[in-house]
Amino acid sequence: MKRRSYQKSKDLLDRASQVLAGGVSSEFRKYNHPHAIFYTHGEGTRIYDVDGNAYLDFTLSQGPLIVGHSHPRVLEAVENYSKDGQLFAGQHIKEIELAEKLQQLIPSAELMRFCLDGSEAVQTAFRIARAKTGKHKFLRFEGHYHGWLDNVAWGISTASVEALGNEDDPNVFPWSAGLSPNSKDDFIVLPWNDLALVERIVAEKHNELAAIITEPIMCNNGCIVPHEGFLQGLRTICNRYGIALIFDEVITGFRLGLGGAQQYYDVTPDLSIFAKAIASGYPISAIVGKKEWMEEIVSARVIHAGTMNTSNPTVAAALATISVLEQDSDTHNRMFRLGNRLISGLREAAKQTGQNLQVQGPGPMFNTAFTSLSAIKNYRDTFQTDKIKLKQFIAGLHDRGIRVIGRGLWYISAVHTEEDIDHAINVSETVLKEIE
Ligand code: PLP
Repeated sequence: MKRRSYQKSKDLLDRASQVLAGGVSSEFRKYNHPHAIFYTHGEGTRIYDVDGNAYLDFTLSQGPLIVGHSHPRVLEAVENYSKDGQLFAGQHIKEIELAEKLQQLIPSAELMRFCLDGSEAVQTAFRIARAKTGKHKFLRFEGHYHGWLDNVAWGISTASVEALGNEDDPNVFPWSAGLSPNSKDDFIVLPWNDLALVERIVAEKHNELAAIITEPIMCNNGCIVPHEGFLQGLRTICNRYGIALIFDEVITGFRLGLGGAQQYYDVTPDLSIFAKAIASGYPISAIVGKKEWMEEIVSARVIHAGTMNTSNPTVAAALATISVLEQDSDTHNRMFRLGNRLISGLREAAKQTGQNLQVQGPGPMFNTAFTSLSAIKNYRDTFQTDKIKLKQFIAGLHDRGIRVIGRGLWYISAVHTEEDIDHAINVSETVLKEIE
């Protein structure tokens, strides 16, 4: 195979490094293969780089592009509504329309506020939970990601499973230098999917706990679905002790269905966060919740603000994205079918090539890892996966025009086709044959 050239990207990265710290605008963009890549344009399921390489895209730009790149209806809506202005620093009708739509679609969305991204909305949820309960800490789970801000930037990656320590009192490590040391006191952490453990620890510590925050599916490590009854069990525990149940639906929102994981699993949280897929890549997120919790903002006891919130292009993009997703009642079923076709194809390719590729996830997103485990059940299991092989797999796919998130996560969009899926399976089989 003739290796693709990434020379122009490399030259641009050198130039960028003179002005952008590290050459990039988000840390994760560094970890592309073979280095940060510079792109020229995207259309549908394809994205193109400055070296003229085309990629069939399963990253969907880390999730947001649920209706693909440059969807004409999204672009048209943004253009049309931007003609009226960009940002009023005041209210406009379309943001009510968007909020009404979300209220209809999302079970817990009695009231909401819009922000710019997931990280910010997560912090808003903590503030509401603290204000209402008068307690300070949140319980979070190992391997879950809730953004890059101080009190959630602990324990995201760890050198070894041993370093994590006991399951009932895990050690946590800073993901970044410069975190406020006090932010470590904001939370306690436990392994995910172990309801008995959560029950025991919350029974001991409920006097300190304002909230339990969880990704309803652990998308950021292993794409692990919740054990039967786990989310419902969290609901019961939170009810028992007057603790806020927060679903971080930044990935699951719009992806499992328009009502998010809360509708899919039929468990209604008190507060939840929607971002990524809400607006096809335009910066808008929502903190939504039950009235009794959102009342903290209504009364202005809790302050939430933001100069750039609900700019015209972001609101127009969100309304257009929802309308594209809603135009066909089969859209989400199709995403599940295509995802499951790809999952089965990858498993078969692994069998044919004798590779220990393990594939798991609900379909619209799923994870690939190299491991002898039949299932990755929690963050601690991810230490039994071969990260070097995964890197070779992702790089091999990239060199043949398939773009997948480096940690092995694949996203399906509403515009992927069966041909795209079958092509990805064939290329994967070729790459798997080459991996040692
Ligand atoms: N929560 C989850 C589950 C995420 O996956 C992410 C980002 O990947 C965030 C929160 C942070 O969102 P953002 O990157 O929009 O700040």
